[in-house]
Amino acid sequence: MDDCIFCKITGGEVPAKTIHRDDDVIAIEDLNPQAPSHALVLPVRHHATIVDLMRDEPALAARLIAVASQIGLDLGGEQGFRLVVNTGDHGGQTVGHVHAHVLAGRRMSWPPG
Ligand code: AMP
Ligand code: ZN
Repeated sequence: MDDCIFCKITGGEVPAKTIHRDDDVIAIEDLNPQAPSHALVLPVRHHATIVDLMRDEPALAARLIAVASQIGLDLGGEQGFRLVVNTGDHGGQTVGHVHAHVLAGRRMSWPPG
């Protein structure tokens, strides 16, 4: 996807602070962190939403969650973390390349805004 900022990051056109990278999944630091630790975990291949990813590459969806969970453990340890996948307009998704947020380092509130 030519105009996708996350495809530009996975393709190396736009720099990002990379936490994890393998052939299928990359994790970066969020540019505008909402917690002391805030990572984004995304598939290298473009899929718009978690619904698309689950439909088209379910094994990759599982890999994404596995990587995100490990990063959550690394960042939050025993105190825990939050794993969020905003989806669509009402879900608050602003970048149309599926990504999981991993937030850690403070107590999270509920319900979300
Ligand atoms: P969402 O609103 O769930 O789609 O999340 C998009 C996230 O991407 C936001 O938390 C942004 O701060 C983050 N973001 C946007 N552009 C970049 C970028 N170039 N590098 C790192 N994070 C970004
Ligand atoms: Zn993309």
